[in-house]
Formats: sequence, structure tokens, C-alpha cells
Amino acid sequence: MSAHPRCTMFDVILGTPEYLIQRAMNIRADHLTYIQAREVFGHEAQIAKAAEELSEAAAAILRWRWSKGQSSESRDQMAAELADAEIMLEQMRMLIPAHEIDFQRAEKLTRLRERLNEQAGK
Ligand SMILES: [Mg+2]
Repeated sequence: MSAHPRCTMFDVILGTPEYLIQRAMNIRADHLTYIQAREVFGHEAQIAKAAEELSEAAAAILRWRWSKGQSSESRDQMAAELADAEIMLEQMRMLIPAHEIDFQRAEKLTRLRERLNEQAGK
């Protein structure tokens, strides 16, 4: 995403409105790909692949951290592994009812906001 003179801070963090619209349009196509992957590779293989990709993402984050954010190669590898992890997390949402994950996510974000408010009050 290139910076545009009219970009706000939210555009930089979340993506421009055009980017978000394109991403939303891709969700349906992505979902069909996930269904196909499950049919071709099987349920168990996709679960194992999710664990593998999340581990690779964790390792890539640590490698980038060890470079103190200075290595563009580590940053590129981290971005690639985070993409792999996101793809597998989205597939896991098809295995565990997505509303259960969304409920847990909302609970955890509420607790995070409470901790942030506590910190702000100190
Ligand atoms: Mg990977």
C-alpha cells in the first residue's frame, strides 16, 4: 500500500477504503478456495497444516525481532509467514464454528481494553 497525500492514519493501518472494498470482494473467492482445499487435502491435513503455518509464523516473528526490525529480508519472510498463517486461520474458522471464535475474540478484546484503561489510569 503506497502512501497517498489524502491517506489518514486509519488508511495506513487498516488500508484505504478502496483496498478494504477489494479485500471484502475477495472473501467469497477465498472461501471457495478453502472449501476446495479441504475437499482435496482433507480435514486432518488442513488441521496439521494450520499448526505448521502458525509455528512458521511464530518463528519468523522471532527472527525479525532478533534483527531488531532492521532486516528487510526477515520482514519479508515474516509477512509471507503471516499470510500463510492467516490463510490457515481462516480455514480453521470453517472447522470450529466461527461464532465461537468471534465470541472468544470479543471477550479477549474486552479484557485487553480493561487492562489498557487500567494502565491509562495509573
Ligand atoms: Mg509457511
